[in-house]
Amino acid sequence: MPFKELGLGPEVLRAVEDVGYTQPTPIQQQAIPLVLQGRDILGCAQTGTGKTASFTLPMIDILASGRARARMPRSLILEPTRELAAQVSENFETYGKYHKLTMALLIGGESFGDQVKKLDRGVDVLIATPGRMIDLFERGNILLSDIKVFVIDEADRMLDMGFIPDIERIVSLLPRLRQTLFFSATMPPEIRRLADAFLVNPKEVTVSPPASPATLVSQALLVAANEDKRRVLRQLLRHEDVKNALIFCNRKRDVAVLHKSLERHGFNVGALHGDMPQNRRTETLDAFKDGRIALLVCSDVAARGLDIQGLSHVFNFDVPINPEDYVHRIGRTGRAGRTGLAYTIATPEETRQIGAITRLIKREIPRITLDNFAAAELDEDAGKPRRAGRGRDSGKDPSREGSKPRGAERRSGPAAGERGREDAGERGRRGQPERVDRVLAAEPAGRGGRDRPSRRNRDDSDEPDVPVVGFGDDLPAFLRMPARPNRITEA
Ligand code: AMP
Repeated sequence: MPFKELGLGPEVLRAVEDVGYTQPTPIQQQAIPLVLQGRDILGCAQTGTGKTASFTLPMIDILASGRARARMPRSLILEPTRELAAQVSENFETYGKYHKLTMALLIGGESFGDQVKKLDRGVDVLIATPGRMIDLFERGNILLSDIKVFVIDEADRMLDMGFIPDIERIVSLLPRLRQTLFFSATMPPEIRRLADAFLVNPKEVTVSPPASPATLVSQALLVAANEDKRRVLRQLLRHEDVKNALIFCNRKRDVAVLHKSLERHGFNVGALHGDMPQNRRTETLDAFKDGRIALLVCSDVAARGLDIQGLSHVFNFDVPINPEDYVHRIGRTGRAGRTGLAYTIATPEETRQIGAITRLIKREIPRITLDNFAAAELDEDAGKPRRAGRGRDSGKDPSREGSKPRGAERRSGPAAGERGREDAGERGRRGQPERVDRVLAAEPAGRGGRDRPSRRNRDDSDEPDVPVVGFGDDLPAFLRMPARPNRITEA
């Protein structure tokens, strides 16, 4: 079905043609005609499906008639992160270039002054993160009583980030008579409940189940001792044909530590996490997008939904706590018909997370091993409550606690950095996992070639003092229990 059959106006069609899209994506085919009819939408789709254009294109047409009044925006789009908000505003600029719509981006980390000035002039489209939106409302800079179209994007991520109370508050400030478009990659019960509360007789639009990683992404899993992880990563980076890569860590402070470590080893690398000032985040992202930085160490929040053209690799330096995040992370590559590679480095302590991912994606991630590294084994008992006498840290997740890995406690003899070589010869005899895809040459020994006696805590000592917000990295265990994904049918 061509774009012109969706009911969009000629200016929007011309802008779409200028971008070079020939066919609407499935979510666009389904959602655009419904949005133009004024229906509420419950969209189950993740980034990479063309979801953003599925609401921006018809919104531009809807907003084309009418004028904005001072401080009374006519539409509101809530995004969980500043990067996503910025990306949506770029979409409006691209697709709205033949219209005269005014737009304001309300995101944290940027000056209130400029944002307020724009609001004073009147805006058609307001794109905001929930916190900043509430701040500006409380300062009396905004009235939401003229909102005609309201979009909640990435609702499940909003839930993860604790934004739901803010969103409920914002919704209570909106007029009852409005059109609401609600998008989420997954539909856990809490999200359903919100959708039921916010939407009126919505049309449900579902594409590509969140549990299926992009088919063009080849995946591989390496199991390594915690203290070997950086060396494993460097070996992969040196011997893979890495054009550009996102490297995911679970914690903000580990983003900073790994970034520093890679920089010390001569890699062209940047870092992105939620606590960085907005101007540095924007600069880093721009540098990565136009190739001045090849590697970007990042957290999930910062990288959520980033649309980087032609990303060759994704590395999970930590296994994500939520299995859905695995799908999101590796989905940053293998986009727009290109192939991509996703490597996950897991420690035995992360066995439970790997199990959750394989259940979600309904297949095993192929295991590979590297020369010169003893492949560690997944540990089926990891994460289970331990009996008395096995240590005071029972039930904790060592990967998040920064504690000494259990494997290291059992080990004696040579320093961890030397273990690989010693154990490598044993691998075959011990029936360790086979090399599935490729054998990578060992990182050269010597300066930078081998970590110093590598205990995790050693490198933690040069960790910068990164501010921690709210619970910070020390989330109580019950909050980290993976949510059971809903079954979602493919359209
Ligand atoms: P999104 O799911 O909104 O993050 O979009 C993912 C990517 O798909 C972006 O790079 C868009 O520019 C691109 N895209 C959106 N719609 C189309 C389309 N109809 N044809 C080709 N690419 C598209």
